[in-house]
Amino acid sequence: MLNLVLFGPPGAGKGTQSERLIEKYQLVHISTGDLFRAHIKDQTNLGQQVSQIIADGNLVPDSITIAMLEEEIKKNPQAKGFIFDGFPRTVAQAEALDTFLASISEKITGVVALDVNEEELTQRIAKRQEISGRADDAADKLKKRIEEYFSKTIHVLPYYEAQGKLAKVNGIGEIETIFNDLTAIIDQY
Ligand code: ADP
Repeated sequence: MLNLVLFGPPGAGKGTQSERLIEKYQLVHISTGDLFRAHIKDQTNLGQQVSQIIADGNLVPDSITIAMLEEEIKKNPQAKGFIFDGFPRTVAQAEALDTFLASISEKITGVVALDVNEEELTQRIAKRQEISGRADDAADKLKKRIEEYFSKTIHVLPYYEAQGKLAKVNGIGEIETIFNDLTAIIDQY
C-alpha cells in the first residue's frame, strides 16, 4: 500500500493537492475535516458533539478523531492506499495511526509537508471564506486554528522526521508546479 500523510497548516492547499494525488495514484482520500463537516451536515451524534468545537477553531479531542479515522480505514479494505489530509494533527494521533496501521500490517510510506508562511495563509483563507462561508474561516476563528497548528500540530513534524519519513515542498506557487514537486517525491517511494 501507498499510505501518505499530506501535512500543512490551515489553507496550505492540502485539499486541492489531495484531489489530484488520489486520481494519479488511485488512493482513498481521508480528510478528517471533510468527515467532520459531513457529520455536522447530517446532524449525526458525532456531528452534534463536534460542531461547536470546530466552529470555534479548536481541535476535536483525539479520542473522537482517532475512532472516526479508524472506522474510515476499515470501510476501505480494498484500498491501494490512503492519503491522510488533516490527520494526524497531534503527536498522539500520529502514534495512534502508527499503532493502528501496524495492527493491519501496514505503515505510513511517507509524509509530505506543504510549506506556506502565515501571511499567505491568512490571505488565502480570507478569500476562501467569501466563497465557502465556513464559520471557522472567519478571522478570529482562523487565528485560533493557526494557534492550534503552531502549538500542537507542528510537533507532528519532528515525530516523522525522526522516522526518516518527512519531505517538505514549497506550497506557494502554481498548483501544477506544487503537484509536480509532490509527485517527484512520491514517485521515489
Ligand atoms: P483546514 O485544513 O483548513 O485547517 P480542515 O477541514 O482540515 O481545515 O479542518 C477543519 C476543522 O476540523 C479543524 O479546525 C478542527 O476543528 C477539526 N479537525 C479536522 N481534523 C482534525 C484532527 N485530525 N484532529 C482534531 N480536529 C480536527
